[in-house]
Amino acid sequence: MEYLKLEQHIIGLVRIFEDIQSCRKEIENRLRSLREDTMLSDQYGIGQSYLEGLFSITTNAMKCLGVVGMERELKKEIAKEASKHPLIAITKVNGIDAFTVGKLIKLICCGAKCSNGVKVITKRKGSKDKWENIEVECPYWRWCQGHRDIRRFPNPAKLQAYLGLDNDPLTGAAKALYRKDQLDYRKKSWILGVLARNLKLKKSYYKLKVYDVRREKTRNDPKYSSWSLRRKDYDATRVMAKRFIADLWDYWYKILGLEPPSEPYAVKVLGHQKQPSLLELILKNGDYSSR
Ligand SMILES: [Zn+2]
Repeated sequence: MEYLKLEQHIIGLVRIFEDIQSCRKEIENRLRSLREDTMLSDQYGIGQSYLEGLFSITTNAMKCLGVVGMERELKKEIAKEASKHPLIAITKVNGIDAFTVGKLIKLICCGAKCSNGVKVITKRKGSKDKWENIEVECPYWRWCQGHRDIRRFPNPAKLQAYLGLDNDPLTGAAKALYRKDQLDYRKKSWILGVLARNLKLKKSYYKLKVYDVRREKTRNDPKYSSWSLRRKDYDATRVMAKRFIADLWDYWYKILGLEPPSEPYAVKVLGHQKQPSLLELILKNGDYSSR
């Protein structure tokens, strides 16, 4: 069964939410950084007391305008809509809530319809408030064939790469992503910053069985002795996020009543043993509980 309409509705809601949130954060971050970086505020000739005033005015203004409340309402609405999607089952994983499911749907589904490999997107024309339709090639046409959900990705590696979690083909190390690759950077930083942090905080099996295991390995193996603690943490976080995404890919195909199209590259080509889906185990038996 397809959920195109619901998915597009969720994409719309999440986009509005993100726009509002990023506006607020941009203003707050600018003021906060000026307040903390006295060298910079000196350079600009902006006094600390003036900044304090600006900060409290802005915070109050946001409250009056109901920006924060609006974000909260949208978050609720997104969670409500996401609850209608079968993917909601994954809230059994500790650290994944209904809003997160909505966010994942928005990240993974395609927002623009494509036919015959071409999709039409609406773009602002110059600086004026004029919009124009432009045609761009759909980079996923080979697989998506017009589908806008998980079917855009023929294997977990493609999805991981789309989310910025792939490795550099030359060095084999985690691919660096910079702020200039805006979109990809945001996807990746959300996955690693929010999703992975929640899995860790709420002690999911993903943390216990993937993060901790990887962390143990880099702690003991002399190969990694030159790595800083921060790097080891980042590395284990990434390994955990990748595993979760791979399991999600697999599960989403099953929701659609389809058999996932191919074995992962590591299994098929490199002959590694297929890792069992932790997600399926959690859906069956529940996630870790300290009780
Ligand atoms: Zn497409």
